[in-house]
Amino acid sequence: MLSTEENLVADYDFDLVIVGGSANGSQAAYSSAKAGLRVAIIEEHGTTGLPEHCSGLFSYWGLDLLDSMPPESIIFNKEIYGSRIISPQGSVMTVRKDAPHALVCDRAAFDRFLLDRAVSLGATLYQPFRAIDVVRRNGVVETTITNSNGEKITLVSPLFISAEGIRATMAEKLGLKGPDTTRFVNAAQFYMYGLNDVDKELVEVYQTHQFAPDFFAWLIPMSDDSAKIGLGTSRKAASKELEKLVKEHPVMKLRCDGSEIRRKTAGRIPTTGPVKRTYGDNVMLVGDVAGQTKPTTGGGVILGGRAGQIAGEVAAESILAGDYSVSFLKRYQKQWRREMFLNLKLMGLVRNYMNELKDHEVDNFFGQLEKKGILSDVERYGHVDDQGTLVKKFMTTLSLYPFYLKTSGRLIKSILRT
Ligand SMILES: Cc1cc2nc3c(=O)[nH]c(=O)nc-3n(C[C@H](O)[C@H](O)[C@H](O)COP(=O)(O)OP(=O)(O)OC[C@H]3O[C@@H](n4cnc5c(N)ncnc54)[C@H](O)[C@@H]3O)c2cc1C
Repeated sequence: MLSTEENLVADYDFDLVIVGGSANGSQAAYSSAKAGLRVAIIEEHGTTGLPEHCSGLFSYWGLDLLDSMPPESIIFNKEIYGSRIISPQGSVMTVRKDAPHALVCDRAAFDRFLLDRAVSLGATLYQPFRAIDVVRRNGVVETTITNSNGEKITLVSPLFISAEGIRATMAEKLGLKGPDTTRFVNAAQFYMYGLNDVDKELVEVYQTHQFAPDFFAWLIPMSDDSAKIGLGTSRKAASKELEKLVKEHPVMKLRCDGSEIRRKTAGRIPTTGPVKRTYGDNVMLVGDVAGQTKPTTGGGVILGGRAGQIAGEVAAESILAGDYSVSFLKRYQKQWRREMFLNLKLMGLVRNYMNELKDHEVDNFFGQLEKKGILSDVERYGHVDDQGTLVKKFMTTLSLYPFYLKTSGRLIKSILRT
């Protein structure tokens, strides 16, 4: 809580304006409102969370970290124990923990839960309002928003957070860059019902250059016979590629035979890791716009949400100090980097290396893990939201070095690209 009334910047409409009322903007709104700031959230879509672009797979570790356990009513499946990884040539590696590790929920409803929580602490929601301009003037920020009636409002605040997702339009107006658009992965996802042989406790990950080059395909079980099935690809038409996958992939086509697609969603995923600069005078970037998305899996709700919370806390410190300058807000980047930068970088390295490997080499790698008894390490250190620990383990496992040596050219290329 701010200690005195005088600390509030009474001359302005709000202390903080946040563009983006999805998961990560809402985390920033929650932590800043909790600290006593007057916060405005701008969300352009009438229904929070739609159009949906997520599988809603979150680890318990991450949800605890964010203190954001979704209500029972929006959870599809609470018992994800691990994953079954299907190699390009069809070999299967199962990684299973002793206890449930993650849950699958309705992501759009999760966004509404997070946004409502911020509003219940006093954050003001402008919805459906789109931010169309933002300028820095006389040491503060003026954000112009509009709705479909043509109503225009300009909100003045000393602080601004962009949690606008991958588009980065507002961020750029304030002189910051979003993630490299040339390295986005296109993703599509179908909600499928009447599937065969689904193990409700295991997510399936399909490594396949043929159907999902530069990323992977997934089956995330909602029940014994329903799942979110999707893929990410460097190719343009992800939805068409997904149609092909469910009809032609040797394992997936058996799962999907006779099933029904009830919903289709799509989105883009930044896989380059964090952008260089996530702060400037009066401004901080949070979530996908900051590249706080795991390059391995594309997950961006836990780490982006944690960054959102840090940004909210730094905003409160900034208001308290009456200092909105670049040198003050630098502490935001320092803190989120301390918590997740190395992890994100290591995941970026894995993504680049996996993309470089040929299908038979990925198979070979899986074989090595099994043959050399390294699978137990994967079970112990494997984690939906922190793959850095597992990567460090792989990097120090001498028995994998012959494989790294064999693919050293591409390993070096991946290191340089990361
Ligand atoms: C197919 C797919 C599956 C995924 N599965 C998972 C998963 O299982 N787990 C996971 O952790 N992550 C997953 N992700 C990634 C995750 O969805 C993103 O990382 C996450 O949504 C990023 O949240 P964000 O709040 O940063 O941005 P977004 O969710 O993109 O939200 C940005 C918000 O800003 C609003 N906005 C943008 N511009 C303006 C403007 N000018 N004015 C007003 N409002 C504006 C938008 O309407 C939107 O609501 C998946 C992504 C895809 C594509």
